[in-house]
Amino acid sequence: MPLLDIGANLTHESFQHDLDAVLQRAQAHGIGRMIVTGASHDGSRQALALAQAHPGTLFATAGVHPHHAIDYDDATDALLRELARDPTVRAVGETGLDYNRNYSPRDVQLQVFERQLQIAVDLQLPLFLHQRDAHDDFVAMLRRYRDKVPAAVVHCFTDNGQALRDYLALDCHIGITGWICDERRGTHLRDLVREIPANRLMIETDAPYLLPRTVRPAPAHRRNEPMYLKHICEEIARDRGESPEVTAANSTATATAFFALPS
Ligand SMILES: [Zn+2]
Repeated sequence: MPLLDIGANLTHESFQHDLDAVLQRAQAHGIGRMIVTGASHDGSRQALALAQAHPGTLFATAGVHPHHAIDYDDATDALLRELARDPTVRAVGETGLDYNRNYSPRDVQLQVFERQLQIAVDLQLPLFLHQRDAHDDFVAMLRRYRDKVPAAVVHCFTDNGQALRDYLALDCHIGITGWICDERRGTHLRDLVREIPANRLMIETDAPYLLPRTVRPAPAHRRNEPMYLKHICEEIARDRGESPEVTAANSTATATAFFALPS
């Protein structure tokens, strides 16, 4: 079963010089399709253009990451709405709250998060969500909109068991990255990943970030790329006590349904 990487930042400058080789390596490792994350005004436009250049293999999201919330204005809102009407865009996001870095003030993050929630409501698209050190505000906001949108994934879930159970109670999907391979800060995920029902679990690299620390041999360049999704899938399978084939088949089926992709 080909894997589906639900979060790859393929418009990142580190992929500019060799994207075709990156995509070829992904195919060779069994990664059939990837969702290119849109995380800023320009980045969302680029994500769509990149996906359109690789029809059937790449799809995109359109959104503004909380780090960039301070740059969100009416023109951004209009652009996201325009991009999200393109059938290649399969979700609104990356959006949410990040109180870990606070690159944008919290009140601005909240406002911009809510504006993007409204886009998902208006266009009836799934949400691709980011939450870091902001669970209480995040879940309170999400609760007000959850039943107005078709689906929502908390991407790169790294939080604790209570947060996981809050999201599952809201019928959210959960995205797991190579963070689970990090012996310094990800070991709690090895237990928690067992609590995620197969039809709510999706897997992602978040490339070029979060190179799984258990990849051997560790590449010298430290850049993560979609081909390592296979490794992440194997690690998650071991933690869940199931075969990698089962994890692959279920996560791909779940992601295919979530993003309403042709099967
Ligand atoms: Zn994120």
